[in-house]
Amino acid sequence: MMEIRFLGVGAAIPDPGGTNSSYLVRAAGVNLLIDCGPAVLQQLAAASLTPGDITHLFVTHRHGDHALGYPMFLLWRLLAGQGLPPPKVYASNITWESLEALWNRTYRELPRVRVRAIRLPAEKSAYRPLTPQIRMRTWPMVHSEFAPVLGLRLEMEGKAVAFTGDASKCDSVVDLASGADLLICDSCHAATVEPVEPDGSAYHLTARQAGEYAAAAGVRRLALIHISPLYAGRHAALVAEAREAFSGEVFAPAAGDVVRV
Ligand SMILES: [Zn+2]
Ligand SMILES: [Zn+2]
Repeated sequence: MMEIRFLGVGAAIPDPGGTNSSYLVRAAGVNLLIDCGPAVLQQLAAASLTPGDITHLFVTHRHGDHALGYPMFLLWRLLAGQGLPPPKVYASNITWESLEALWNRTYRELPRVRVRAIRLPAEKSAYRPLTPQIRMRTWPMVHSEFAPVLGLRLEMEGKAVAFTGDASKCDSVVDLASGADLLICDSCHAATVEPVEPDGSAYHLTARQAGEYAAAAGVRRLALIHISPLYAGRHAALVAEAREAFSGEVFAPAAGDVVRV
């Protein structure tokens, strides 16, 4: 069984009082943190965790709402996590440039913190098992030329969870999510809720597009995340919009929610 905890669900500018999208996946002794935004220490603390509990970290791309907490994640390990085994950190080559620069521009005077760096191709799909039980495949998403995104799919014991990360229209979402038990999908915009963005933007999808991809991929459940603060308090309307395209379960999780597949 995989347990997914939504540590934060917000967009680059989250809803008032919220934090940026970030998830913790627990399965077979692995604590995988997906994305490391500026509130990472507070997000982990809200789940009674610290960076010392994280065995694997995956950073989808280098935009600040997904990567700016990386130096703080390392600083915690340096000051409070001495002697812990180094985490495995997965990111594309391009994202790695920024992760290293973030540390060097903020704490270069301090000793280096040991991590096991795993560099993934930004431009093509790749397969990297997390453990013998947990398989992971990544796909490039369409989002930003400057900050290319890797979406990821985790499989264990016949179950699958897919994370788009930030994404706009691209066929890879269907490959990523094919037959998955849960698709966690960018739904920054809405096609039918004001302010309408009928076809999404160059950077992000609408709730309707998320529903269309969920239907095309034949997933069981769809979670809408990274919803723009322009729709604060109206997530139910985006859920309804996605349901028009997809007959499975749709929900817009809140920070702290946990689902199991
Ligand atoms: Zn983002
Ligand atoms: Zn982004």
